[in-house]
Amino acid sequence: MDITASLQTLPSPPFVAMEIIRLTRDQDSDAGDLAAVLSNDPVLATRILQVANSPAYGLSREVTSIDRAVALLGLKAVKMMALSFSLASELGDNGGSLDMDTYWYHSLLNAVTARRWAEATAHGLAEEAFLTGLLSHLGRLVLSESKPAEYAEVLKAGGVWPSFEAETAVFGFSSADVTMAVLEEWGLPELIVTAAATMYVDAEASEEVNGAEPLAAVLKNVVLTEHALGECGDPAAVEALHDALSMAGLNDIELEEFVHDLEYRVRDMADTLSVDLPEGMSHQVMLGEARSRLVEVSLDMAHNLQTVEQAAEDLRASNQQLEGMAFEDRLTGVPNRAAFDDHLARCIAGAVRRDAGSVGMILFDIDHFKRFNDTYGHQIGDDVLKAVAHAASRVTRADELFARYGGEEFALVVVDCSMNDLAVTGERIRATVEATEVPSTHGPLKVTISGGAALLTQVHDRDAGERLIKLADDALYGAKDAGRNQLGFAQ
Ligand code: GH3
Ligand code: MG
Ligand code: MG
Repeated sequence: MDITASLQTLPSPPFVAMEIIRLTRDQDSDAGDLAAVLSNDPVLATRILQVANSPAYGLSREVTSIDRAVALLGLKAVKMMALSFSLASELGDNGGSLDMDTYWYHSLLNAVTARRWAEATAHGLAEEAFLTGLLSHLGRLVLSESKPAEYAEVLKAGGVWPSFEAETAVFGFSSADVTMAVLEEWGLPELIVTAAATMYVDAEASEEVNGAEPLAAVLKNVVLTEHALGECGDPAAVEALHDALSMAGLNDIELEEFVHDLEYRVRDMADTLSVDLPEGMSHQVMLGEARSRLVEVSLDMAHNLQTVEQAAEDLRASNQQLEGMAFEDRLTGVPNRAAFDDHLARCIAGAVRRDAGSVGMILFDIDHFKRFNDTYGHQIGDDVLKAVAHAASRVTRADELFARYGGEEFALVVVDCSMNDLAVTGERIRATVEATEVPSTHGPLKVTISGGAALLTQVHDRDAGERLIKLADDALYGAKDAGRNQLGFAQ
């Protein structure tokens, strides 16, 4: 199969990227050469500094120049970053039939996943991993741009993100093959080309990867993660991901954080690179589903819970489990999302069984939380999360559950209450947070939250939980819309 012949010509990399590739091949090149190339592209240089200063790198000193970045991160890392961002900025919409927002979602997911896996298992390869992840779907772009009509056929048959099989059915080869052809043609570092070649190949079929094994292993995990979290959401892949994470020494709590962490890294990276993600790719739709599947798997494995009814008899037992940490959010120390899901299921089962009784919840979300991260860094963002969690749990009653729902969102569950009770409780929490000062190296910081309250009075079915969450989410949206630092109520 000759891809180059079939596509006539492969695209060339943008000029700055070409220069950086040349530098990566030149053993003698130094920080000065890199700075000189980057001086042709101030936007790119700024991006590199922005990312080097982002919480992901956890550098204590501010990086103000390319030289400084090289001194702190190493020449190789900065070259890889430069290459990633220059390629990303040029891979735009050139009239192909592929949906670009979806393309970016998958590419960024693979890039941040690759960096995350490399951090956990192959230190020192983080930037190579990021770049390979970022380019892992490049072939789709090339195919859809050079053969728009045929690729439109593939999309018609295979959906917005078609499988490699759907592509092969039309072209006789897949976009994975095209990706490889382009990476080779562009002369990307040998390590990357060799490791990338194993990415989409069966383990048995993979060739000799001499020296590239650690990166190849990272990329295998990237493919697994993409399968588990992407649209395909294959349950077998979810279990396999769970196993891979356990092998990397991540227990169940860290696993949940792993998924959550990926989500906000994708969003931050999309911001940095000024690319759009698919419409409506919010927390819940993006990885929320995959996360609850992961939680289900871990719950099954960790607790082997009996029937919900039996468990509902003993709320105290669940509190003991909480103390046993499996249901505790590691950062803030309050109950985590798994605890929330579990508790809500128990409350609903109880209400169904009694054929009476109400279940209410309030979904809280920190106002303009991103500004804390952006202004003061991730660490202080984390301190704000902890302070909010502590302040709010101080004023919740023993029969209410206050949990970290995800990111900067918290949820309260209350049973047998009226909407008025919910309003009083919610207002107490809101006002307590408003009165809290978060100590920081920049002086005391103020923080506010908005809340959405919802109540179900007649609970007959087990799906009530999802309905309740949706109502609370809508009410929260209303509170944000009305100016934040207030409660909204489900109609
Ligand atoms: P709004 O008032 O509309 O809620 O604005 P916002 O800035 O709070 O909302 P947005 O959803 O844009 O930002 C939430 C940010 O929370 C994005 C993400 O980077 C950050 N974040 C999520 N989880 C964590 C975490 O565990 N630690 C830190 N430091 N930041 C987190
Ligand atoms: Mg939010
Ligand atoms: Mg928020």
